[in-house]
Amino acid sequence: MLSQQQKQPLLALLIWALLSSGPTWAETSHQPPLFDSHSHYSKADAQRFSPEDIARKYDRLNIIGAMISSTPTEKTEMLFNAMPNRIVPFLSLYPSKAHKPVWMRRTSTFKRIEPHLDAFPYQGIGEFHIFRPDAYSPVLEKVVKIAQERKLPLQIHGDATIIHRVYQLAPDLTVIWAHLGTVPVPEYLKQVLARHPNLYIDTSVRDALFVDDQGNLKPKWRRFFIQHQDRLLAAIDTYSTQRWEKLGETVAVIRGWLNQLPEPTRSKLAWKNGLDVYKMTHLQ
Ligand SMILES: [Zn+2]
Repeated sequence: MLSQQQKQPLLALLIWALLSSGPTWAETSHQPPLFDSHSHYSKADAQRFSPEDIARKYDRLNIIGAMISSTPTEKTEMLFNAMPNRIVPFLSLYPSKAHKPVWMRRTSTFKRIEPHLDAFPYQGIGEFHIFRPDAYSPVLEKVVKIAQERKLPLQIHGDATIIHRVYQLAPDLTVIWAHLGTVPVPEYLKQVLARHPNLYIDTSVRDALFVDDQGNLKPKWRRFFIQHQDRLLAAIDTYSTQRWEKLGETVAVIRGWLNQLPEPTRSKLAWKNGLDVYKMTHLQ
């Protein structure tokens, strides 16, 4: 944790970096590795940033790899083809954004999954959005069955009812629960993790919860991260093109709390767990 006095030189450095031209301090500093366990590369993102641009951003920020999905999924394939050693491609269930709230009520959803999985080395399915009222969707059941047969992990943006339902259907499945679920409270998350041993949780977009006004990691989150250090994944979630534009700033925010954790918790959350869960053994 930083005291007020320790922060002064850091603040001066930040102001200097912002006033001078060129990349910001976050992009030039030698930071420990980060594996992004949840991100997207949409059509609009691809129009703004080529795969080579993304590779350069990753190099500059020491992002060693990322789990990517896209709507439509073709852009994930493009990014994977450009960086096969760094990108973990996940298959989106949505041919367009209009499918996001209705995919679980359309049988066309699972009919298009298997041809995609046969044609490309996808390593998981998701991120998909689904909540309690749709927990008993037959389409969800079919998606879980396909994942189980092919031994593919799922990335789910939903509530705990959905997580319980998926594990009722397939207890051995690896599930990555996006954004700490819908009730991001350590006491609650602890119970869900205890109930499902194959569940992992990504921290994307929840960074502001973990720190106080001074940027210090809150004790309850510090305890939670240390106690569950093998089940948590740091992640960025590039849900918009603006998020890609400001990647350096977002990564600096994430490292702001990560770097306050003791080892080995810090490295596990920052990159080691990501490599394990996504089987990126060549980067270990
Ligand atoms: Zn996302």
